[in-house]
Amino acid sequence: MINKAVHYNAWADLQSKEFAAVVSSFQQLLQMMQCPNTDCGEFLCVSPIKGDKEVLRCSCGAVSLNLVPKKN
Ligand SMILES: [Zn+2]
Repeated sequence: MINKAVHYNAWADLQSKEFAAVVSSFQQLLQMMQCPNTDCGEFLCVSPIKGDKEVLRCSCGAVSLNLVPKKN
């Protein structure tokens, strides 16, 4: 396992403030794509992997976004 705290601190030390802002935004984006259930914490995946994409979800099922447009 990579120690995330050590990793991010190294970035902050090496890069400019502007780039740190980009990293911060990117981390927020990643958090939006991550399951809020702390027991899970998985990144959301499109399911099924093959065929038509129907849902964006994690494996615990706390997040499940329908990708199929509603038919009128
Ligand atoms: Zn989950």
